[in-house]
Amino acid sequence: MQRFHFPAVEASQAELEIRARVREFLQRERETGGFVPRADCWVSAPDAQFSRKVGEMGWLGMTWPTQYGGQQQSPLMRLAVTEELLAAGAPVAAHWVADRQSGPHILKYGTEQQKYNILPKIVAGECFFAIGMSEPQAGSDLAAVTTKAEKTATGWRLNGRKIWSTGAHISSYMIVLARTSPAEGRNRHVGLSQFLVDLSLPGISISGIEDMAGGRHFNETLFEDVELTDDSLLGEEGRGWAQVMGELAMERSGPERFLTTFVLIEQTIAAIRHQVDFQSAALLGRLYVHLVSLRRMSRGIARLLEQGESPETEAALVKQLGNQFEKDVLSHLRKLMAALPPDEWPNGLRALLEAAILRQPSATLRGGTTEIMRGIIARQLGVR
Ligand SMILES: Cc1cc2nc3c(=O)[nH]c(=O)nc-3n(C[C@H](O)[C@H](O)[C@H](O)COP(=O)(O)OP(=O)(O)OC[C@H]3O[C@@H](n4cnc5c(N)ncnc54)[C@H](O)[C@@H]3O)c2cc1C
Repeated sequence: MQRFHFPAVEASQAELEIRARVREFLQRERETGGFVPRADCWVSAPDAQFSRKVGEMGWLGMTWPTQYGGQQQSPLMRLAVTEELLAAGAPVAAHWVADRQSGPHILKYGTEQQKYNILPKIVAGECFFAIGMSEPQAGSDLAAVTTKAEKTATGWRLNGRKIWSTGAHISSYMIVLARTSPAEGRNRHVGLSQFLVDLSLPGISISGIEDMAGGRHFNETLFEDVELTDDSLLGEEGRGWAQVMGELAMERSGPERFLTTFVLIEQTIAAIRHQVDFQSAALLGRLYVHLVSLRRMSRGIARLLEQGESPETEAALVKQLGNQFEKDVLSHLRKLMAALPPDEWPNGLRALLEAAILRQPSATLRGGTTEIMRGIIARQLGVR
């Protein structure tokens, strides 16, 4: 049986300093009307102008090499920045996917030309990405994708349909997983490839899908005879499965899996602070220790990334526990707020809580469902 591994990491002086800088920036932005804090901000609050400001501050693509616009900072420094942005409920959705996974994926698998063309634009907060994995009949069973790319004289012809693509309507590119050759018997993992698809190409139509809260952050994206150039292939032809697994690990490993509701915790505590009884204190204490543990694990993942490891199972565990934590946050906060007379609810808190409750079910779906995370963890434990 292999063990999970979450190294303990002390905060460095540089990390404390960058946290202070991010907090100052966020306070200034809030005070000048730059944003209103939102729960679930990394999915439901896109703001291209804000993303450009984050880019100007040097907080996008921080860990990437300098020749592509990055600063070769450690994953722990990046974690400090992303934690602060999430905790403040800042509108980071526009750049989130590009900074978290598409950029690092291009860095790992892209050609020099792809890296030079795209990475500096992500760093500047001017180029956003969407994830092109799921299809109507291929979610958890991702190897069932039917989107197809056929070789042509000049490149590839893409046909198919992707669904739930977050932010595709504001993105420049989507990394699309497509079948480029048939499966070998029962082995469906062969014959898949990834493509860097410019979403402005002819033959692509993007239509919004409304979520339960009335938001329009995800889309259905249709590809009809889209002509791709040869250099649209990302990585190796036929190696798409292995590549996409690595991309998913990046998608799952961040603090957004447990900091989505942080603004609510903060605002609720501010609202009830004068009437905290023993029961409320116990509920808050419970949330606090869970949050501290999740942060401790998340820092361990950042350290493993720094050491060049691929903490896929650790990421699945944090995502799974983080999703449970966020569910607990909402049920505990509802109890705490119920004790406060309705006319004493501070401005905006009810709307924030209601939106978070409606958006909560999506947490255990996006990035992989609870059952899929449990399967990954079980495999590591040797019980599957
Ligand atoms: C808010 C949000 C944003 C998203 N953004 C994107 C995006 O940007 N790009 C993208 O490509 N996708 C995106 N998705 C899609 C997401 O990745 C899928 O919803 C997810 O992978 C589940 O797939 P599905 O919806 O087809 O459900 P299914 O795979 O049909 O699953 C239905 C249920 O069956 C269970 N199940 C399925 N297989 C098994 C199994 N083998 N063992 C046990 N139980 C199983 C699941 O756990 C689930 O409870 C997003 C989803 C949401 C909710």
